[in-house]
Amino acid sequence: MKNLTADRVRQLADYYTAEIARLADRPLRLMEVCGTHTVAIFKAGIRQLLPEQVELVSGPGCPVCVTPNDYLDTAIAYSRQSGVIIATFGDMLRVPGSSSSLMQEKARGADIRIVYSPLDSLAIARAHPDKRVIFLAVGFETTAPTTAAAILAAEQAGIDNFFVLTSHKLVPPALRALLTAGGAGVRVDGLLLPGHVCTVTGLAPFRFLAEECGTPAVVAGFEALDILQAVYMLVKQIRAGVARLENQYARVVRPEGNPAAQAALAKVYGEVDAAWRGIGVIPASGLGVREEYARFDARYVLGVDVEPTREAAGCRCGEVLRGVIKPPACPLFGRACTSDHPVGACMVSVEGACAAWYKYGAGR
Ligand code: SF4
Repeated sequence: MKNLTADRVRQLADYYTAEIARLADRPLRLMEVCGTHTVAIFKAGIRQLLPEQVELVSGPGCPVCVTPNDYLDTAIAYSRQSGVIIATFGDMLRVPGSSSSLMQEKARGADIRIVYSPLDSLAIARAHPDKRVIFLAVGFETTAPTTAAAILAAEQAGIDNFFVLTSHKLVPPALRALLTAGGAGVRVDGLLLPGHVCTVTGLAPFRFLAEECGTPAVVAGFEALDILQAVYMLVKQIRAGVARLENQYARVVRPEGNPAAQAALAKVYGEVDAAWRGIGVIPASGLGVREEYARFDARYVLGVDVEPTREAAGCRCGEVLRGVIKPPACPLFGRACTSDHPVGACMVSVEGACAAWYKYGAGR
């Protein structure tokens, strides 16, 4: 969109807004799957531009939010072991586990460091050969290739004190679960798909949405005009009574995705069943380290005792992540649960729906 003048952007935004209002002749529920879209929608005030009958609901696309408590509890248990350095993206620090958080453990003296890439963790491992460095590998298809690259780099460099605690997840199986029996109670008329995930995967893994589930889907970029155009494309499909997978973000997303990233992933990881907060175990929705690389898998190599998992009383993150409710419908929202005192993961992550609703206002 960078070649468009401000006037042209305004003209197009007006056009899409008017067309959406003209075409949406019944109440429509569209899900933005990805947390980055949730935040972009709030920042651009897109809800306010849409007609009453077009409702946007958030989906399960915030990686920190869908990571279940037992993963947090395991990371916390590792952080309590002597000789361990935990390397993690900053978002994970404040996520409450069953009885503690990484932030609390850090305050108690655990060696927990914020990194911006798995490769930073590898550098820490190199600098501290006497320690075990565990990278908390959380994220979707977007971030998983960099974890795979770090494992391959560790192998090549002969680094034997670098490990990953993996909770990487795959978006398409979660959407299948939401749209079929597992998502009982969720009505979605169309999906805004995460452009950055599709940059890696390509379009093929998402074709089932239209072809098998009959749900219109549009891969969307992250600028306000991208999102408006994608909503327009969805509403146009719905009005025409068709279901297709379309690519609004064609300037970045190629149909075949990124073959190099896919190859690195396939080399290091295989599909496994995975637990999602609020959704449960979804078949083949996670990535497990392959046996050939098991020496880098913390769970495989390093023993740890983990406390029994408990969920925060009253937290309705699960329903938020399935698009069943919007955050303000949670009785704790803005009361017991705020950005300063988050009760659930959806209030912690910058991409969490509760955090976005809390920060940018109730919207609609
Ligand atoms: Fe959970 Fe807080 Fe969101 Fe309620 S507002 S669902 S307690 S994160």
